[in-house]
Amino acid sequence: MTFKKLEMYGFKSFADKTAIEFNNGMTAIVGPNGCGKSNIADSVRWVLGEQSAKQLRGSNMKDVIFKGTEKRKEMSFCEVSLYFDNSDNELPTEYKEVVVSRKLYRDGQSEYLINKKIVRLKDVVAIMHDIGLGKEGYSIIGQGKIDEVLSAKPDDRRFIFEEAAGVAKFKQDKNESERALLRTEDKLSRLNDIIYEMERNLTPLEEQAKTAKKYFELRDKARYYDLNNYIYQYEHIAQDKAVIDNKIKAYNEELDAKNKAVAAIDKKYEQLLNKNSEIDFEIKNLHEKEIALSIGLEQEKSERNLIEQEIKHLSDRKVELLTELEQNKVAQTIISTNIENEKLSLEKLKSENFSTG
Ligand code: ATP
Ligand code: MG
Repeated sequence: MTFKKLEMYGFKSFADKTAIEFNNGMTAIVGPNGCGKSNIADSVRWVLGEQSAKQLRGSNMKDVIFKGTEKRKEMSFCEVSLYFDNSDNELPTEYKEVVVSRKLYRDGQSEYLINKKIVRLKDVVAIMHDIGLGKEGYSIIGQGKIDEVLSAKPDDRRFIFEEAAGVAKFKQDKNESERALLRTEDKLSRLNDIIYEMERNLTPLEEQAKTAKKYFELRDKARYYDLNNYIYQYEHIAQDKAVIDNKIKAYNEELDAKNKAVAAIDKKYEQLLNKNSEIDFEIKNLHEKEIALSIGLEQEKSERNLIEQEIKHLSDRKVELLTELEQNKVAQTIISTNIENEKLSLEKLKSENFSTG
């Protein structure tokens, strides 16, 4: 399993997309101080999941994003991809090339990708573990460490080479296994304690089991009696129900009869109401007739008054006329007397004239 290629974009001093091909054998990166050689090593650490900003020679993880220069603006994110040659199928995938990528944005959002598909950091770590590139399984011998390697004591040097050769991983696995073994032994001894404790509790438990068995027997018996009681009660209730049903039937019949009687009374009541309205009608007619008669009576009364007045008038008139007649008779007597007197005077005159004549 070897690296094929490293691609950096916006990572530290690599603002432009930069690719480094690793051909078979050794790859050396040469350049003046500060040109970014160590940044390349940092990018490898970073893409493999490094979580410590300090290990990447920064104080904050965002320090790995290109921060701009006088001539160039800062970048909003950075991305590093490391290409693995998987032609020997060391990784359990059909791909002949596996690309692990990591992206980080200035707002803190970050992404891990395997073959351009988003995955979790856990998945990247798992892949690295598969190929013996676990966290402690690879060695980047940093600047200044070479001196240390050359001047180190044989034991320290051995450690550095073991680490670089990947033995560290196996040592670590061995340590891990030993620790697991210890933990298991620990558990075993605790289990033994538990078994001992359980055995000690066995006698009281047997007693309790007997009591429980007795309890279950009694409970079953109680259930049996309960059930019989229910059946007995159910049968009695059934009898009571029949009696009540009969009563209900009788009440219903009575109710029917009473309903019929009520209907008959209703009918009679209706008839009486009709009769009542007929009588009312008759009363109304009689009343009207009475009114008409009293009006007629009034008219006759006033006619009679008129006639009486006329009679009175006529009798007054008669008295008047009788008086007038008396007066006329007196006048006639006077006139007749006068006429007699006149006749006498005339006679007297006539006789006087003859005598002289
Ligand atoms: P030396 O030979 O002295 O070890 P080097 O080649 O290892 O040098 P690096 O330490 O890799 O150089 O690079 C340092 C350069 O990277 C500095 O000029 C620094 O300004 C630049 N640099 C680091 N982080 C960033 C960043 N986030 N944005 C832009 N430039 C950065
Ligand atoms: Mg350096």
